[in-house]
Amino acid sequence: MRRKLAAGNWKMNGTAIALAELEALARAFPSPSVDVLICPPATLLHSAAKALGGTDIAVGGQDCHAATSGAHTGDISADMLADAGATSVILGHSERREDHGEQNDDIRAKARAAMDAGLKTVICVGESLEQRDAANTLDIIGGQLSGSIPDQSTGENLVVAYEPIWAIGTGKVPTLNEIGEVHDFIRARLERRFGEGVGRSVRLLYGGSVKPTNASDIFAVSNVDGALVGGASLKAQDFSGIIDAL
Ligand code: 13P
Repeated sequence: MRRKLAAGNWKMNGTAIALAELEALARAFPSPSVDVLICPPATLLHSAAKALGGTDIAVGGQDCHAATSGAHTGDISADMLADAGATSVILGHSERREDHGEQNDDIRAKARAAMDAGLKTVICVGESLEQRDAANTLDIIGGQLSGSIPDQSTGENLVVAYEPIWAIGTGKVPTLNEIGEVHDFIRARLERRFGEGVGRSVRLLYGGSVKPTNASDIFAVSNVDGALVGGASLKAQDFSGIIDAL
């Protein structure tokens, strides 16, 4: 059985005052029955890990560099994330792919570095509206999966998040059938590449405008093992509603 996972991606939001939301979340879920992960901006990682110390709520980064150290001004290595208290890292988010021109190869290299540093990786895939309208969704996702996911992946170190770009922050959500189609496709691809054992143990998250009001319907779709949540992870009350729905 795959353990459910509620992951929050704070993106470029939050200063020290936002730690109060984590404390509220920890009070609401002293020992959650599902995995809960919060990925704050890098500046808050250490203090977030401290604020959640002694709870089962984990902390993760939003990106890492592929190298372990060196002359890369402004970048952060996987070891540094781990040193700050992170146990996971989101990689290949569409905002990274778009804002920083990250390609599948870059994401695979980052994922290798993260896995080597002992981090779990949440690798994101997803199509644009243009690609969906042109009926290219599964081709695009297939290419992202084979290009971004490293060979050393297991059910322990890999989570895949399906985030249709047009659903992120827009309030638009694919139909449950559309979500199911993509998640079944991702599962089949993982099983084909890694074998049934590993392929079936990797958790698949849906992301894009998940709210407390639509979470239970989305979580009932086959091969949806949880959510990667942006806006609704910023407030403990909203995120609690999503955790409850799992
Ligand atoms: P929203 O939940 O704000 O749509 O963001 C989704 C997302 O990009 C999470 O990584």
